[in-house]
Amino acid sequence: MRVLVVEDDDRVAAALRAALTRHEMQVERVGHGLAVLPKLAGADVVLLDLGLPDVDGLEVCRRIRDAGDVPVIVVSARGSVDERILGLHHGADDYLVKPYDVGELVARIHAVRRRRGNGAPHAAPAPVTDLGDGVVLDRARHTLTVDGADVALSRKEFAVLALLADADGAVCTRDRIVAEVWGRRWPGADRTLDVHVATLRTKLARPGMVATVRGVGYRLAAGT
Ligand code: CA
Repeated sequence: MRVLVVEDDDRVAAALRAALTRHEMQVERVGHGLAVLPKLAGADVVLLDLGLPDVDGLEVCRRIRDAGDVPVIVVSARGSVDERILGLHHGADDYLVKPYDVGELVARIHAVRRRRGNGAPHAAPAPVTDLGDGVVLDRARHTLTVDGADVALSRKEFAVLALLADADGAVCTRDRIVAEVWGRRWPGADRTLDVHVATLRTKLARPGMVATVRGVGYRLAAGT
């Protein structure tokens, strides 16, 4: 696992490198926001400090997201709920407030990798996922059954639902869903996503199952 640490504080960076190396991760460190993009290609996960000397960390986060789908964990002393939401809205996969426990950081690094589906070799999603409340997603047959009856989904609707199911209840940002399902961004993307979610909700006949996380994205709420 290769971790790109974006941190301007030498002492914090050195401590992180030591801790992550003990957990058998390879660490590359950059101290400036502008140095991040050239280093992205080799990284499995980015740990991003928000307080950087040159570019604001949230802007760096947005640029990383525009450049590809490497998971980003924002690590920051800024801890208010608004700031966390802002971080997630800029495409971060998770948010950790300083000071944090290294064990928790390592667990979250593994979690974001798993959610991206490129972690352990057997992390591939099960072909059949029981979403609860009589809703079953079958990836092999590409079908959805609700209370035992097949429900026809478009390919994009199916992809959105499968992505949310893979996140296992964690929020998926709008940017991430659009990037992974449509593979591109365009001015009407948010509206298109909303329409697909609305149709999904109707077909599921469980309005609360795809829950809106205001200003961030969507998540699956089991059993509602
Ligand atoms: Ca800093």
